[in-house]
Amino acid sequence: MAAINPQKEASVLPEPGKRNILITSALPYVNNVPHLGNIIGSVLSADVFARYSRGRGFNTVYIGGTDEYGTTTEARALVEKCTPQELCDKYHAIHAQVYEWFNISFDIFGRTTTQLQTDITQDIFLKLQENGFLEERMTTQLYCDQHHSFLADRFVEGECPDCGYVDARGDQCDLCGKLLEPLELVRPRCKIDGSTPVTKDTKHIFLELDKLQPQVEAFFRESASKGAWSSNGISITAAWLKEGLQPRSITRDVKWGTPVPSSLEGYEDKVIYSWFDACIGYVSITANYTDQWEKWWRSPDDVQLYQFMGKDNVVYHTIIFPASKIGTRDAWTKLHHLSTTDYLTYEGGKFSKSRGVGVFGDSAKETEVPSDIWRFYLLYCRPETGDSEFTLDGFISANNNLLLKNLGNFVSRVLKFVNSRHYNSVVPNWAEYHEPSFDTFKQDINQLLAQYVQELDSVKLRAGLLTVLQISQRGNGFLQSSKLDNSLYENEPSKCAAVIGLALNLVHLLASLTAPYMPTTAASISTQLRVESLPISGQWTADTIRPGHEIGQSQHLFSRIKPEKAQEWREKYGSEEAKKLKEEEAALKAKKTSKKKKGGAKKAETSSGTQTAPVKDGAAEVSPAETANSAELASTDGALTGAATENPLDSAQSALGALELK
Ligand SMILES: [Zn+2]
Ligand SMILES: [Zn+2]
Repeated sequence: MAAINPQKEASVLPEPGKRNILITSALPYVNNVPHLGNIIGSVLSADVFARYSRGRGFNTVYIGGTDEYGTTTEARALVEKCTPQELCDKYHAIHAQVYEWFNISFDIFGRTTTQLQTDITQDIFLKLQENGFLEERMTTQLYCDQHHSFLADRFVEGECPDCGYVDARGDQCDLCGKLLEPLELVRPRCKIDGSTPVTKDTKHIFLELDKLQPQVEAFFRESASKGAWSSNGISITAAWLKEGLQPRSITRDVKWGTPVPSSLEGYEDKVIYSWFDACIGYVSITANYTDQWEKWWRSPDDVQLYQFMGKDNVVYHTIIFPASKIGTRDAWTKLHHLSTTDYLTYEGGKFSKSRGVGVFGDSAKETEVPSDIWRFYLLYCRPETGDSEFTLDGFISANNNLLLKNLGNFVSRVLKFVNSRHYNSVVPNWAEYHEPSFDTFKQDINQLLAQYVQELDSVKLRAGLLTVLQISQRGNGFLQSSKLDNSLYENEPSKCAAVIGLALNLVHLLASLTAPYMPTTAASISTQLRVESLPISGQWTADTIRPGHEIGQSQHLFSRIKPEKAQEWREKYGSEEAKKLKEEEAALKAKKTSKKKKGGAKKAETSSGTQTAPVKDGAAEVSPAETANSAELASTDGALTGAATENPLDSAQSALGALELK
């Protein structure tokens, strides 16, 4: 997959008066291999919706890519001893391969390090300036005289002011979990050469979000209700707005980023902070897909924007990006539906690449279990309304029971019967027999179908999947109550034909309902039936497979996984290590809690996974689980506002573990 779509002439474009659906999944950072939690969190969820939307016949475009700028990239490049560009190239390719294996149907999988990203970001930046929403301010930061550079948080280490740990980083203390600003560190030192940094004044551009608050609030009220945002998305956004938006620095003293427009003097060595331009990546990647990108992004009346992300990315999509768009005073397609997920845990603990815990995107295929099965189980336990757990036993059981015994059994029983000597693969004339139970059956299926459409329309993906299983279960029940077998064929041939006719048509319907979740399985069913896939509609007519049609040979859709595999995988993918991590976390948490009790002044700790309002002392409110998740964060921002400043945005972000836009 390349950044540039090779077939521009084939680009999907919106048409006025039709349903036009623009879909994005959060752009992952290019410093890691995505794990199963990352995959279900945005790309896979968005993929199901994109496939559903195409199945409905809507004009649909699905935009994905990697977010490549920022100090996290620079810091990681330092570790891997390569240039930021080389690092981005490497991880962009890794991400692309993983998503390809998971069958993610991006219309383009792009990157943010492109000229169009610079052009579009600078255009927005200059319009915000022209409209009076940008302001220059002087700030104080750590500077290294040794290598002549300001130190972003990840480039400075020192003692934790809270627990005294000597190797705390500029953004976080790994021992006690406190989120830090570089200026808070005791005895700071440059990570590159170990020298002691000095403080130095440096000017930066601030986006005056406070001036945009009324319009952002109006947008939020309208969009959240019309687009039926996830409750997580609503509560996180409402909490930020309640706290009050503050001016926020959008430039940085680093090299790896979108250049500041050259019309600004004194910004030659500064870049635009990825915090500001990461969401603009969706727009520039679309522009790399089609030169008519404005038809997607500047059509507020014709296009509905659906955005998928983990809950830690909410504010960028509901406040920062909308505020930037509003401030340009241009027409923009704004967020319609926000879909957020909570965290997926792995065998009760957290995924950790460094500790070898969890199944990562590149190791899923080593198991030789097809990607459809992974997709199925991830969607089956999608953390849609709270954290959820991935377990290897659950994975195997889902395959062996839900897929093999329910869906697989129904499809193969029907097809094998048509393949048999009774019909020799030719669909019998099935219109001659009728009984009232057939009407009930059709009604039941139509009712379930209406439920499926309603669930998918409102992006309740897990519920929709359960409905698919209910439909095939109803199909199994129908075969059972009709007593489909050889004696039915011999004694009541016209009834047998009628049962087969209805069942075959239900298989056809199931192929299209399954397609968003398990595209390979759905394609296999269509191939076995020798039919085109049905468009998804709210009505099942049960007459798309007609008498005389010849079907292909029945093939197994699923294979049984031996339960013993669970133990083998547990050893390979670190379940023991997961338990250990969990214990360490609990110990840290206990230590922190006792410390707080001594201190007395701080608020009670929020429980992990529970969404809370932003709080003043944000860092202290974050559970170790969350801070560890955000260990890769590029929280360079705080340095500019000064350690002593209580910026509600900072603390709210900390409280949400939110600096990670990936
Ligand atoms: Zn230095
Ligand atoms: Zn500490």
